[in-house]
Amino acid sequence: MSRTTKVADVTVALDHWIGGERVGSASTFDDVSPVDGRVIARIARGGPGEADAAVAAARAAFPEWAAKPPAERAALLHRVADLVEQRLEQLAIVETVDNGALLRSHLRSVMPRVAHNFRFFADYLVNDLHHPNFETRGHRNHVSWDPSGVAVLITPWNAPLMLATWKVAPALAAGCSVVLKPAEWSPLTASMLADITAEAGMPAGVFNVVQGLGEEVGPALTSNPDVARISFTGSVQTARLIAASAAANLTPCSFELGGKSPFIAFADADLDAAVANAVEQYDNAGQVCLATTRLLVEESVHDEFVARFVDRTNALRQGDPRHAATDIGPQITDEHLRRIEGFVQRATVDGAKVVIGGGRNSELGGLFYRPTLITDVAPGSEILTEEVFGPVLTLQTFADEDEAVAMANGTDFGLAAVLFTGDPQRARRVSAQLVAGTVWVNCFFVRDLRAPFGGSRHSGVGREGGTWSFDFYCDVKNTCTNVDRWTR
Ligand code: ADP
Repeated sequence: MSRTTKVADVTVALDHWIGGERVGSASTFDDVSPVDGRVIARIARGGPGEADAAVAAARAAFPEWAAKPPAERAALLHRVADLVEQRLEQLAIVETVDNGALLRSHLRSVMPRVAHNFRFFADYLVNDLHHPNFETRGHRNHVSWDPSGVAVLITPWNAPLMLATWKVAPALAAGCSVVLKPAEWSPLTASMLADITAEAGMPAGVFNVVQGLGEEVGPALTSNPDVARISFTGSVQTARLIAASAAANLTPCSFELGGKSPFIAFADADLDAAVANAVEQYDNAGQVCLATTRLLVEESVHDEFVARFVDRTNALRQGDPRHAATDIGPQITDEHLRRIEGFVQRATVDGAKVVIGGGRNSELGGLFYRPTLITDVAPGSEILTEEVFGPVLTLQTFADEDEAVAMANGTDFGLAAVLFTGDPQRARRVSAQLVAGTVWVNCFFVRDLRAPFGGSRHSGVGREGGTWSFDFYCDVKNTCTNVDRWTR
């Protein structure tokens, strides 16, 4: 009998999903809700045995799945999307209770995008993937995209199902079979997705979920010689471990990692729009890899920018993420919250000034850290170079474009940048000099799945989205034929 529990009245399976069956482990780990600190589920605690079994199941299911006509694979992914849409509210509430992000966002944008991820890659497979032919001196080149094999997908807790399906959808569309390892802090919606794939008619073993602690189950997945691809979103430190573990088999890895992204506001920008956008960097309690947490503001508008920023931030409502009026929810764990506190304390010891926030929200208790703005930060200090992953922004000023670019590029990361200016030529000039996988000009977080997404430097290896995801999960092959030799 497989184990389940009720989370916000939704039944969720607690065991792994391997080869089309629920499989338990000898022990479990506690899944704690950041909303109220309660243990909401005791999840199967996988290890090397379960990791090996999942890869074996995926390996066995691969040939048949890879050989399926693209239209059939696409139809199945559309059925998964239909079921995600039917269960949108259930997925949204479980995700909120599990990771503390706003129910409002899950309902309005996140879960619809989960369904869209499946639809996009199903359509891409059928409509956009062309197999070009070209000839040179009687030799025809035919390029094909062959499914590469078993894809191991390792995902973080801050946007669990959304980020998982960015990987799952293209991998399945490409004809790979999948082993998904969700983060131990928010494992529930991955388990729900397993049920959805089964209901959609996905053959056993094509999609598998292994639960467990990263360090216990991860290495067995990433070092397995039967794994063809590894896609990971998470921390730089873990990416290094995965790269080392994958090295023995030269398994290709795609990494989407952290950031310390700049937000640049020039004096010629629409200041209100810029400030509104800067405040959005507190979304998901700052637990967003893309957040542009270093505000760089042209000197002449500094005072006005800060005054408007403080007003808007003071109007944000912090509290229970299940309530529609809440703007900022809790941090994921007390340990993470203490890490954020440490960053801010050390910055102030070094002479930085806290303009607003700067500590726990004691009225609320629990895991709430106040949205914080820090100024007067010493150049090169930790708070300017390391990812805090909380609602903590720094603000510095610059005198001209060159200084803005130098400050923007002054970290080891290169994930994203936001640029506010009213001058299109300046936007082009500055954007061309920024080291970032994505530059948003006068906007933030707009994401078209056809566009590449990822980071440079320590922010990642490779890109996700459209053709970039698809190519990653395939072995691209060129067949060169001497057509003059055909005898019939
Ligand atoms: P964070 O983004 O929270 O700092 P991590 O990079 O530690 O987190 O975790 C992201 C994902 O990587 C999680 O699913 C976690 O379980 C997994 N993970 C952690 N350590 C390893 C490891 N050594 N090998 C493979 N996966 C790991």
